[in-house]
Amino acid sequence: MNDNKKVPQYELLIDGKWVTPESGQYSTILNPATEEVIAHVAAGSEKDVDTAAKAARAALKVWNGITAAERGRILNRLADLLEKNQEELIMLESMNAGKPIASVRRQDMPAAIDTLRYYAGWTDKIIGQVIPARTDALTYTVREPVGVVGAIVPWNFPLMIGIWKIAPALACGCTLVVKPAELTPMTAIRIGELALEAGIPPGVLNIVTGKGSVVGDAMVAHPQIDKITFTGSPKVGRGIMQGAAVNFKKITLELGGKSANIIFDDADLDSAVRGSASGIFFNAGQVCSAGSRILVHKKIHDEVVDRLIERAKHIRIGDTASDDTIMGPLVSRNQMNTVMDYIDIGKKEGACVAYGGQRVGDKGFYVSPTIFTDVQHEMRISQEEIFGPVASIIPFEDEEDAIRIANGTAFSLAAGIWSADVTRIHKVAHELRAGTVWINTYGYTDVRLPWGGTGESGFGREHGEAALENFTEPKTIWLSLLKR
Ligand code: NAD
Repeated sequence: MNDNKKVPQYELLIDGKWVTPESGQYSTILNPATEEVIAHVAAGSEKDVDTAAKAARAALKVWNGITAAERGRILNRLADLLEKNQEELIMLESMNAGKPIASVRRQDMPAAIDTLRYYAGWTDKIIGQVIPARTDALTYTVREPVGVVGAIVPWNFPLMIGIWKIAPALACGCTLVVKPAELTPMTAIRIGELALEAGIPPGVLNIVTGKGSVVGDAMVAHPQIDKITFTGSPKVGRGIMQGAAVNFKKITLELGGKSANIIFDDADLDSAVRGSASGIFFNAGQVCSAGSRILVHKKIHDEVVDRLIERAKHIRIGDTASDDTIMGPLVSRNQMNTVMDYIDIGKKEGACVAYGGQRVGDKGFYVSPTIFTDVQHEMRISQEEIFGPVASIIPFEDEEDAIRIANGTAFSLAAGIWSADVTRIHKVAHELRAGTVWINTYGYTDVRLPWGGTGESGFGREHGEAALENFTEPKTIWLSLLKR
């Protein structure tokens, strides 16, 4: 890192060294809450990806030459270093992604550390099986690392989702080229540096910052990268799938959502309203599993709307560095404009803005919590992912109607049910097309539980034992027992 007029400049981290990007170009990184420039970050190119992929390929032998137990100890050392440097990482994440600092401290940072420790525990438990297929042979399997992993990370949870990919890949013996989102590279760069300090050998974890259309594309096309793990939009995910077809690359896609959060008339309304408000307004709605469609039984519709408006009024928006702030800005001017465009679309489609609907202030990319009523299931604001603090309230008649509306989008990442009727809860939970169903709560994830969706929400699962499938391949070994 060089200090350039107080704005730091960051190079690429390849093979354990800071490397000047081949392009000589740097992009400007902003704090979305203040619009101030916080860093200049290397704009990687196809050539830089090639150097990183080759370094990662060479490092595979080194990383797998270390015992699994020792790799676990190294991952735990990285977790220790994240813990030791957590105030700096929390500040970087908050400043770069526009997240309220209290929320990074409470959620993103502990989740990142927990994920590292969880997968540190897996390193020496990734085992094959002896399968008694024949009497004339000893037949067994071993689980081998998939090889070099290209990890493409989004901007909404850069630290946490970055570690969701790095930790299991390293635990499985893979090496990585990581591409953080162009807007939010700060914590990934620091983690790359801490990984070296933890004893992760050079070349095992390479950080190549830059544009998705340049660095990301080059990673997908590179013959030395065996697997792409991607979290981001369905549009980019589709392109990655097409690109990966050329080399038959293994891929995992964690894409978008338009999750239904269903409130039945027997629900405890205090907790339903509290949980549903945070389900859509947490992280300013920039959450893949945001409960952006709030389905409310017609009997309680008006009461729920009134109570949601009351909650929205009390959400403290503002300075992300203040411990009291609940909601920060959107990540960029572009994202703010996209959200404002959707608010216009909703109005033109005939939905009613019951609360919010405008930009807040003229510095920083803040949009007020927004509540739409009179939303028809077919409207664009009910079908497309907005990725902002915009709730669509949709009334329903009965259980069947709720399930029909909930399952009526191309997505299937998550869903919520609020009810006191245990039979109904189980029945509806089974009927919902969703990778995760929350009951009488909303939005929690835990590294021990599989995470992902189907359809436009992608495929494959992160977290838990399921993630080990993403980063290993079984190999069958057949030893003849016949006498020669
Ligand atoms: P995005 O698709 O624009 O970008 C994601 C990443 O892909 C970034 O690193 C970007 O630089 C890179 N990229 C862009 N173009 C590329 C290309 N041509 N080739 C390869 N990589 C490329 O998404 P985003 O706006 O950063 O994130 C928001 C999206 O992510 C939303 O749709 C959201 O639902 C989804 N998301 C999903 C999950 C999940 O777990 N399912 C979690 C968080 C976010």
